[in-house]
Amino acid sequence: MYWGSVRFFKHLILSTVALMIIVPTVLAVYFGMENHRSKQLAEEYKKYASESQLPKMEYLTGVDYSEVITVPTFPYQTEYPDMYAERSAFVEEDSEKPVVYLTFDDGPSANTERVLDILKANDIKATFFVVNSDIEAHQYLYKRIVDEGHTLGLHTYSHQYLNIYRSVEDYLADFDKIFTKVYELTGVKPTVFRFPGGSINVYNQQIYFELISEMLRRGFVYYDWNVSSGDAGQTYTSAAIHQTVVNGAMTKDKSIVLMHDSSTKYATADALQSIIDSLKETHEFRPITNSVEPTVFTYEDNQR
Ligand SMILES: [Zn+2]
Repeated sequence: MYWGSVRFFKHLILSTVALMIIVPTVLAVYFGMENHRSKQLAEEYKKYASESQLPKMEYLTGVDYSEVITVPTFPYQTEYPDMYAERSAFVEEDSEKPVVYLTFDDGPSANTERVLDILKANDIKATFFVVNSDIEAHQYLYKRIVDEGHTLGLHTYSHQYLNIYRSVEDYLADFDKIFTKVYELTGVKPTVFRFPGGSINVYNQQIYFELISEMLRRGFVYYDWNVSSGDAGQTYTSAAIHQTVVNGAMTKDKSIVLMHDSSTKYATADALQSIIDSLKETHEFRPITNSVEPTVFTYEDNQR
């Protein structure tokens, strides 16, 4: 009888020992190779990005990006011939202190004047990713943002996720409207922008890669964020916004802070002065320009 015999147990012990050696070895070799491969890809991409001065974006690692850039494959690439931005090389931060980029999305609104007044009083430059406002009294705010030295970035005209992310064509049509409007009102052609919901979100999962490629091809640089003020949700107070932003900025050398400038976000405007007070000694505030290396989401970020 083999089962239960001494020979059976001998074989069982030998097999177990063999498995204990083989399985970890195979795993180690596999992950070693994976690690090596991803390091190699990262190196290759780094080299490519520095040569071509393209944004370094992890999710494009290993993709022959030059193909996407130069070959006119899609009809929309010939649309909107004025909707281009001149790209600049990214310049390393030259600050002794950690840098904070305050960014305000969804304006102009009834809160924008107060936000601008606070920034002016503190001599701080920030970044506004604007949408369309139909309210007559808001029209001069686009120009005021520019005149006071802030960066005017774009955030789409309608901000309607279901429309703008239906296709690349829909996004471009919408973006062109705000691009044109801002140019007419301010004389400035924005070079930086932020995707509503961030660059990779549940609404654009089918088109994000193509869409990002097209916007980069046109020379625009987009910025996600690495500090969220938390003011997008429903329950927050100015004290909570203050705490979240300060905590986030304290742990980073470079913070791109997501805040909102829509008409319901008065708590954000309320928090602004105390945020500035808490960080002004230890940090430096700067506006985003297209020479600031962007913080961008990866596909993995979106899956968490
Ligand atoms: Zn938004």
